[in-house]
Amino acid sequence: MIVTPEKKVERIVADFPILARPTSRGKRLVYLDSAATSQKPRAVIQALVDYYERYNANIHRGVYEIAARATAEFEAARAKVARFINADTAEVIWVRNTTEAINLVAYSWGSVNVKRGDAILLSELEHHSDLVPWQLLAQRTGAELRFLPIDDRGRFVLDDLDALLSGCKLVAIAHVSNALGTIAPLPEVIARARRAGAVVLVDGAQGAPHLPVDVKSLDADFYTFSGHKMLGPTGIGVLYGKRALLEAMPPFDTGGDMIRKVEYATASFNDLPWKFEAGTSNIADAIAFGVAIDYLENVGMDWIREHERRTTGYALERLAEFEPRGLRIYGPRDPQAISGVVSFNFADIHAHDLASVLDGEGVCIRGGHHCAMPLMEKMGWPATARASFYLYNTEADVDALVGGLDKAAAVFKL
Ligand code: PMP
Repeated sequence: MIVTPEKKVERIVADFPILARPTSRGKRLVYLDSAATSQKPRAVIQALVDYYERYNANIHRGVYEIAARATAEFEAARAKVARFINADTAEVIWVRNTTEAINLVAYSWGSVNVKRGDAILLSELEHHSDLVPWQLLAQRTGAELRFLPIDDRGRFVLDDLDALLSGCKLVAIAHVSNALGTIAPLPEVIARARRAGAVVLVDGAQGAPHLPVDVKSLDADFYTFSGHKMLGPTGIGVLYGKRALLEAMPPFDTGGDMIRKVEYATASFNDLPWKFEAGTSNIADAIAFGVAIDYLENVGMDWIREHERRTTGYALERLAEFEPRGLRIYGPRDPQAISGVVSFNFADIHAHDLASVLDGEGVCIRGGHHCAMPLMEKMGWPATARASFYLYNTEADVDALVGGLDKAAAVFKL
């Protein structure tokens, strides 16, 4: 039987209990804030309940049945993540989120590899999580921060890349901008960074949920992402690192589980990946994240990319209808160049006010600086309204957004 894209989305929507619950004003919930966090399918929620109801136990030590099961499911989830991004399981470190993954690299790798006079190259698009850890590393070491520029449509300008890479130890760049949706030209940046001898960290918080990722063909040294933005629970994320780099790095958090042998004065450390996983891990959320990965793989990452490209393209078309009334769309206008995010402002309505009017219509968007204050400052925007799309969004959701904009135009007498 042929399943049309419409039918497939309908089935996907039915898997997300929250999308069937009307808002307190009796409106259909139209969730357009997946760049902040995604909704969760029933299977992921059930995996959490199953763990706590059936085999809650600490991992790696217990010999009894439920402890062995908890350990097996926890490690199986790691193997699923590894397969999902084409990494080896030893290269997949569980962390809380992207932010923690980047901090881990900034402290552990940064403390032994970056010194005064070295440069760290970021882009002008970075989320605070891929900026502040490097600012502090630069302050600790005396290294210099440099920024790869973007143009006024949020597209990367690579003209000076080789000069920026001179003397550079590390490049840290977002796969996809959470503020503008721009997809970074990673193959070119990574190839040129490689020639310059720099290590590359890709902030994949908005990449892994939306685009097929193969860390081996990408050749990134580190790739970081958060479970909660890709159908998984909060509190679980991943640091991928190339084995040789991870082997050479000192531990970050220390304590139980990350050790091999401890004496009163000294300790030796566990193998990868556990060397970086001190203390009791987030067992339930890691297991449920594995179920989220199963879900994404069943739907298909290529299908998700194509569906989002279509939905974003439709959103760009519909929003353009408001341009004569003062709506301004930011970021690249080409759905091929962005992933699931459309940022805009409507005349002189503040993005927060717009988000409040839309909330009254059941439409959830985000208004603000999107944790990219320097970008907002550079572009001269006090804030933007952001609609972000995922596999469960439909053209009807875009139409609801458009209906909300009509309402806002009436409220603010545009
Ligand atoms: N980088 C980007 C590009 C993001 O969009 C986000 C989340 N908004 C983060 C990093 C931080 O992710 P988390 O809050 O899950 O650590």
